[in-house]
Amino acid sequence: DALLVLENITRSYEQADNHLVVLDGADLTVRAGEMVALVAPSGAGKSTLLHIAGLLERPSAGEIYIAGHPQGNAPDRERTLMRRNEIGFVYQFHHLLAEFSALENVALPQLIHGEKVAEAQSRALELLRYMKVDHRASHRPSELSGGEQQRVAIARAMANAPRVLLADEPTGNLDPTTSDYVFRALNSLVKQSGIAALVATHNLFLAERMDRQITLVDGKIVEL
Ligand code: ADP
Ligand code: ADP
Repeated sequence: DALLVLENITRSYEQADNHLVVLDGADLTVRAGEMVALVAPSGAGKSTLLHIAGLLERPSAGEIYIAGHPQGNAPDRERTLMRRNEIGFVYQFHHLLAEFSALENVALPQLIHGEKVAEAQSRALELLRYMKVDHRASHRPSELSGGEQQRVAIARAMANAPRVLLADEPTGNLDPTTSDYVFRALNSLVKQSGIAALVATHNLFLAERMDRQITLVDGKIVEL
């Protein structure tokens, strides 16, 4: 049930005047139903790690397994399919489509995926219900509060039933009460669906409530 495995990941960047090693032998396993908090100072390599785990960027060396499938050296086409089918992304800013209702935003990834309209809508509604925002299903993003928008964005990330959820500051622009509410909804969804979640956050209070906390030290992952 190790759904996300990073093995000895190295990533360096060639900059104008130096060779910057951001990740230097990073190892991580996230299991089904587990929510892991990634807490590290700015510049430590959190985004790089999330991009590599999300198959948006390739490591310089090392292997990535998504639900047991090695992806480090897989062809682009296979990585793109794996990303669409098995990985959900949540960002600090929700990136919902302004012209569509909450329900349509959540149904859209499934429609793109070839799902029938009625089925996509009923799953979208179910996800909105899980995230406790189904009463706002017919509203557009601009008519929703920040917390509601973020709960819709999480529902959308789950639309294609991914096995891995990657979140970058999902509560970054929310007040503490709203953050707490979003966190609870996310946590219950992770537990119910058995997804493996890796959540980068600066919110230590929320991090402590996750199953494990990790940080990056000299490009390696260290448990807190
Ligand atoms: P964090 O998300 O923890 O703030 P990042 O992963 O964004 O850290 O960046 C880690 C380091 O790698 C930073 O010093 C950043 O400047 C550098 N970096 C990130 N992406 C690139 C890139 N595409 N080219 C060169 N340097 C990069
Ligand atoms: P699409 O199906 O629209 O072509 P992709 O397969 O490129 O999307 O991407 C799948 C997921 O990866 C989407 O959820 C998208 O938000 C995310 N994604 C794609 N490119 C980036 C990027 N450069 N940075 C962060 N997330 C990205």
